[in-house]
Amino acid sequence: MLTFDKSGKRKTFKRVESLSKDQREVRIIESLNTCRKIGRLLKDKFPNEIMKLTENSIIMHDRKDRRCTNRTLNRYYAYYQNRGQRVCLLERVLVNRKMARTCPEPGCLTSAEHRPRLEGNFAFGDCIAHELSHHNTTGHAKAWKLKYIRMIQEVALLFISGKFYKSVTTEGGESV
Ligand SMILES: [Zn+2]
Ligand SMILES: [Zn+2]
Repeated sequence: MLTFDKSGKRKTFKRVESLSKDQREVRIIESLNTCRKIGRLLKDKFPNEIMKLTENSIIMHDRKDRRCTNRTLNRYYAYYQNRGQRVCLLERVLVNRKMARTCPEPGCLTSAEHRPRLEGNFAFGDCIAHELSHHNTTGHAKAWKLKYIRMIQEVALLFISGKFYKSVTTEGGESV
């Protein structure tokens, strides 16, 4: 919540939400389920361009977790790592579910200013399309960009067609 002093100047920035530890954990699990579902649906569409997806393929970044190797990611939301072929998402992103949209133009990836803010499923859709596109491509060069564009088009179709919402996740993590 934004609060203003009498002159209209912004004073402090308070978090509206304060979640209990349990609520945070539930959110994280739900967010990871959403990310995994998007990953699975993309894998259905592009079976040869995405790594084999297991329950360890899309996880929360944790410095103490040996599966996560990136140590310098304050300004990231998530990263793809070749070792283990994994996508790791930051805890704050899994809780807040807010991200700036990927802009695949050179120089735009690190400046967040002009990128629209996405929230919820759409934020994760963009993020997973971005990260999965790093598989078998180099950096944010042309091959990554072309792959990302194809992936994000599919993500948009999944939402617009309603296919994303029809695909139910069972406990085993399979789509039915
Ligand atoms: Zn841009
Ligand atoms: Zn990237």
